[in-house]
Amino acid sequence: MGRLLALFLLPMLLFGASIKPFKWNNGESFLTFLERKNLPLSLYYNMDKDDQKLTEDIPFSANCQMLIGDKNAIKQILIPVNDELQFQIYYSTKKRYEIKVIPIVSEENTETLYIPIKTIPYNDILAATGSKNLASIFVKMFKGKVNFKNGFKEGEPIVMVYTQKYRLGKPFSMPQVHGAMVQVSGKQYTAYLNADGRFYDDKGAQFEKFLFKYPIRTPRITSGFSKSRYHPILHRYRAHLGVDFGARPGTPILATGDGHVCFAGRSSGYGNTIKIRHTNGLISLYAHQKSFRSGIHVGISVKQGEVIGYVGSSGLSSGPHLHFGMYSGSTAIDPMSVMKRKTEGFSGKERKIFMAIRDKIDRKFTEALRLKPIKKHIFNFENTYYVNTDTFKPQLF
Ligand SMILES: [Zn+2]
Repeated sequence: MGRLLALFLLPMLLFGASIKPFKWNNGESFLTFLERKNLPLSLYYNMDKDDQKLTEDIPFSANCQMLIGDKNAIKQILIPVNDELQFQIYYSTKKRYEIKVIPIVSEENTETLYIPIKTIPYNDILAATGSKNLASIFVKMFKGKVNFKNGFKEGEPIVMVYTQKYRLGKPFSMPQVHGAMVQVSGKQYTAYLNADGRFYDDKGAQFEKFLFKYPIRTPRITSGFSKSRYHPILHRYRAHLGVDFGARPGTPILATGDGHVCFAGRSSGYGNTIKIRHTNGLISLYAHQKSFRSGIHVGISVKQGEVIGYVGSSGLSSGPHLHFGMYSGSTAIDPMSVMKRKTEGFSGKERKIFMAIRDKIDRKFTEALRLKPIKKHIFNFENTYYVNTDTFKPQLF
């Protein structure tokens, strides 16, 4: 206990400053946040359009940090946008507040997990790793293909190959699972993460069938999804948390899937925006609209392919286009990874790429089954986001 207390006090004693963690208020705008903290609103107005838009994608309840100095003055605030980028507001040597988008520095490690089944996979993975994320990804990977309720013989193996990010020695963010294997009554089932971000079995059959369709009749993608990209000319970090479709003003925008409208209104960055909540829990977003189809309002249900509005250039848009986003909770995911595939199975080059991925993961499965490396991870996944403390100088840990 004493040591723990000393660890908390250490930063304060050393730098005369304290760190206050806080959560991003659901639905709060960046301007309201600055106002509430008595920070200059020019921080927002002087940002470029892309960064301003990015503020609208700060996930609900994101774990932020504030560094407070003498007389309660704010020295720094870190607000994560996703697991790769964060806003940094800081009191600079020029004696004024500045804002930047900076990367969240992390290490990643690819690990293989081997578990002999005792109860059911979800419980066993959770017991071995402490990670609900890993356990639920596993279940999702084999949903509908393997019956986990019965049929296991005790000691039959589970193997998972995944990459975990670490921040200051602690795991953070969702693990990326590259492949998983489970044996049920002597029969082995495998699943592999392909380059398109979806899971397939060893024959290349898709596990989860996404039925979403393009939101534009003749889609022309002008900008893809990225969580973090360094712009070599601007020397800045950027993110584009959706897909842009180039189209003439007035082009009809179509609902990507069945669902009900959960937002229809204006936001400063995304302009006239509609959000649709779908039956599988994902939320699609349609931004920069010229106008909505008449009768569109929060609560109404829409069918896939139904016209919901028209392409425009409202909000912080550089020209007429549709910005199309997809969200799991309030976290942006790549919309293309959940669009319906044109064809089932692979051929040609696609097939070669998938087979190479499959064979590589298969070798890891074989090795794990031979070596049976039982290891205990203690994960703490309570916080989806940890933020940098690097920029606090000197380093805390
Ligand atoms: Zn866009």
